[in-house]
Amino acid sequence: MADTTTHRGASAAGTTGTTGQSAATATGQSAAAATGQSAAVAQEASGAAREAAGESPALGELRAWLATNWDPDLSVGEWWERLGLAGWAAPALPEDAYGRGLSRTDAIDAAQIIADAGALGAPAGLGLLLAAPTIVAHGTRAQIDRYVRAIVTGQQGWCQLFSEPAAGSDLAGLQTRAVKDGDEWIVNGQKVWTSGGQYADMGMLLARTDPDVPKHQGITWFAFDMHQPGVEVRPLREMTGQALFNEVFLTDARVAADAAIGPVHGGWAVANTTLAAERAGLGSGAGGVGATAIPGTVAGNLERRAGDVVDAGRTRGETSGSHLRRVDARLLAELARALGRIDDPVVRQGLARLYTWGELGRFNSLRLKAVTEAGGDIPAMPNIAKLSMSHIVRLGRDLGLQIAGPAGLLHGYDPAGQASLAGRIHPLVRVVTEAALLAQAPPIYGGTDQIQRNILAERVLGLPKEPGPDRTTPFSALPRNG
Ligand SMILES: Cc1cc2nc3c(=O)[nH]c(=O)nc-3n(C[C@H](O)[C@H](O)[C@H](O)COP(=O)(O)OP(=O)(O)OC[C@H]3O[C@@H](n4cnc5c(N)ncnc54)[C@H](O)[C@@H]3O)c2cc1C
Repeated sequence: MADTTTHRGASAAGTTGTTGQSAATATGQSAAAATGQSAAVAQEASGAAREAAGESPALGELRAWLATNWDPDLSVGEWWERLGLAGWAAPALPEDAYGRGLSRTDAIDAAQIIADAGALGAPAGLGLLLAAPTIVAHGTRAQIDRYVRAIVTGQQGWCQLFSEPAAGSDLAGLQTRAVKDGDEWIVNGQKVWTSGGQYADMGMLLARTDPDVPKHQGITWFAFDMHQPGVEVRPLREMTGQALFNEVFLTDARVAADAAIGPVHGGWAVANTTLAAERAGLGSGAGGVGATAIPGTVAGNLERRAGDVVDAGRTRGETSGSHLRRVDARLLAELARALGRIDDPVVRQGLARLYTWGELGRFNSLRLKAVTEAGGDIPAMPNIAKLSMSHIVRLGRDLGLQIAGPAGLLHGYDPAGQASLAGRIHPLVRVVTEAALLAQAPPIYGGTDQIQRNILAERVLGLPKEPGPDRTTPFSALPRNG
């Protein structure tokens, strides 16, 4: 997919390598547990509803497969091997690339069916969400078998080494250099905001391999080994109190020539596939469905009993106030009722507004699905979906804090803080404050709201691109800060 636009968001829009996703990853909380339903009741109810709606036959096949294959006594690594090789970890990938060739909507339903069955879901994180679809689209058969197999079976965790201190929205301005040395490249530079870098075995590395051509033309996408001298991962603490992302310093690190995904110097088009996958994942609200765990050799989950990971997430969800529940109109109505604010006309208006935006997003997804299945497309719908998601997150934040009142000023940043608040404020207030602290992230990650609007302006409305020399001037001749 060639893309010659200037900005990251030119085809960008976000990471469930987002804080939200990483949090879901860390706790492994199941959706059924979060709503307080037993897994069996949830399974029966949602399964019946889907069958009545005429679900894809592949999803019926998944139910049958789960009935014979899910075994809580398997280790996480053994279960993911089974799930991944059967094509159910990443069912939207093609059948000859460890998937099932399902539509995105059916793939999200598949994740829900796995959760409803009380089984451990697919490996969490950016390997499955971003690296796998990119390598399938641009990699060789050997690269697919080497990298994608390890992703769908959870053997390797991945991070995204795209952003740099001076290259976020202007991703094509990245300065990390890779210089050829025989059969290898030597890499020097700094990346930042690397979600999950502390657990990653591999990184999706964008590096400049030719500085003497215009900036979009001299970049290469590498599958980069994080376990080597010259790779230093330093955590960054966020306002949520957690340290989910990092700075990564690369000093004379090495990457083999056969780890370049797609053409050397042609990495911008490859990066755009990654960014498109990111945008589609965020706009759809995918990720974080059901119980899961961080994959790879660093997080230490592969040897755990799969059933224990599911149970631990469920217990944590019940005792902690189900802090990963989505802050939607239903949750806030529940909180407003509990706090005696449900008759407040301003609160009621806010709930109606939030509900309406949620429904609009759902209808747009269904519309896109119908148009896509009929062979058409709705230009820029993923950008619109990402903007809409950012808006919904802000509405939920503001309404949630309004309903919580003064208690919304209190937040338990760690287990001790949470324990001191337990029993003194309603447990859903913690859901609200956590979501409020996280709400700043979606309008930034994967392409900011402003960049999404630039894309809509240039690509859909046909407005002129921003003037500048970047398209014709060699990168090495462009003016630079510092
Ligand atoms: C929670 C989180 C997780 C992240 N995870 C990762 C990750 O795993 N890997 C990774 O590589 N990156 C990650 N990022 C980085 C993210 O992609 C960048 O923060 C984002 O692309 C914005 O870049 P920036 O922070 O450099 O802001 P800048 O690009 O410096 O932008 C600053 C402000 O200027 C505005 N602006 C910039 N250019 C324009 C323009 N042309 N027109 C109008 N307005 C403009 C922006 O909208 C923004 O408001 C993450 C970010 C967050 C918040």
